[in-house]
Amino acid sequence: MILVKTLEELQNKLNDLRSLGTIGFVPTMGALHKGHLSLVEKSATDNKTVVVSIFVNPTQFNNPKDLERYPRTLETDLKLLETTSCNIVFAPNAREVYPEPDTRKFNFGELETVMEGKHRPGHFNGVAQVVSKLLDMVQPDKAYFGLKDFQQLAIIKSMVKQLELPVEIIPCSIVREDNGLAMSSRNELLTAEQRANAAFINNTLSKIKEQKGLKSVEEITNWAIETINKNPFLTVEYFEIVDDEQLQPINNWNDKKTMIGCVAAFCGKVRLIDNIIFN
Ligand code: AMP
Repeated sequence: MILVKTLEELQNKLNDLRSLGTIGFVPTMGALHKGHLSLVEKSATDNKTVVVSIFVNPTQFNNPKDLERYPRTLETDLKLLETTSCNIVFAPNAREVYPEPDTRKFNFGELETVMEGKHRPGHFNGVAQVVSKLLDMVQPDKAYFGLKDFQQLAIIKSMVKQLELPVEIIPCSIVREDNGLAMSSRNELLTAEQRANAAFINNTLSKIKEQKGLKSVEEITNWAIETINKNPFLTVEYFEIVDDEQLQPINNWNDKKTMIGCVAAFCGKVRLIDNIIFN
């Protein structure tokens, strides 16, 4: 495994490797955990070369405090990646990614007006900016994204289509702690007590499957919000049941459609997201 910090180094290295087989790419913001590593291993089973980027992208943070607080642990990340099949770590600085300010404005239509898009204005525009730049730099055959960020995945698929990028986007399952809490770099910011209580989010989502069909979408939505809010450590920002394509709220259970329950909740100052898919 090698670490490169500039585009020039990255491209020199990739020029040598591209003829040997396909390139898989896993973009991350670091503070790596087993969720990230599962994407790396999936990429290694599908491709000859695996590139992981570590870059905390300033343009996707709508809250400057959140950007400041975001964990940065490059040394530990590199040690973790040494234990995986990663070949190249690309850890650029902001000037390398944004030699000029990126003024592009993407249009994702109704995909960006709900949930994360509604509560974090500008977030997905920043995600699209950085992911399009990284894809352009790495030029991978396949790129891997976690289903934990379900809406982000939909946005990236839409961006790839709009820009006609020659890359296949591969969704990867959510990896959880033993107590069910979705792994997240932000979990590092929680106390042990908060971490234990944050598991209540997934706990509640899992119980919806038992109730689906017995109660209406509205009843279940209200139940989920009330139940999570009853935990003194948690405050729900939103919980919505949406279709898995346009991510628009649904009013009735529809067995023909895949639906997904998406939640954002604060645990102290830390904002956590999770989801559950109903087939
Ligand atoms: P991040 O570093 O948070 O930007 O995440 C980088 C990638 O890892 C994204 O595609 C995330 O969706 C994915 N990811 C983060 N947490 C998990 C998890 N618990 N399980 C699977 N994928 C994850």
